[in-house]
Amino acid sequence: MPEIIFQIPGLCLVFLSCCGALGPDDRVNLTREEWKERLTEEQYRVTRLRGTERSFTSELLDVHEDGTYKCVCCDLELFGSETKFNSGTGWPSFYESLKCPIDGSDNVELIKHMHFGRTNIETRCRRCGAHLGHRFDDGPPPTGHRYCINGVALTFEASPKTDTEQEIEDN
Ligand SMILES: [Zn+2]
Repeated sequence: MPEIIFQIPGLCLVFLSCCGALGPDDRVNLTREEWKERLTEEQYRVTRLRGTERSFTSELLDVHEDGTYKCVCCDLELFGSETKFNSGTGWPSFYESLKCPIDGSDNVELIKHMHFGRTNIETRCRRCGAHLGHRFDDGPPPTGHRYCINGVALTFEASPKTDTEQEIEDN
């Protein structure tokens, strides 16, 4: 039985580190140079220097499949396709972010900034601090939030197809 006792904590650690229930040690902290090596110039400019991609340029605007949107820097799951909507702004938009299934904490961190006397809410990846975009309060129900996200900060992973969907595609 010793193997089983040994394996369980390992499994928990893998699960915890992939869902966003993070202790300080789970944070991804790389140097500027390390990020530059991992990312394209545009990904680096947007996620690490708080830049903004040009509107209507993201390929993710045209993605309508079921799946998960992840952080381009550290792979943390940030948004589900079921909360994506067409905001007309030219940036991928979601009305809700993904939560950790274990402790319910938000995988997207909100940072408030004062900007010309108004509060501006920046959104960042909880694991690596990547700048994602902003959150506004003019979104659709049920949350009323609009997460306006730079597509370059995300990757999309399609959900595995069910047998029926695969059969339809094959025929
Ligand atoms: Zn990240």
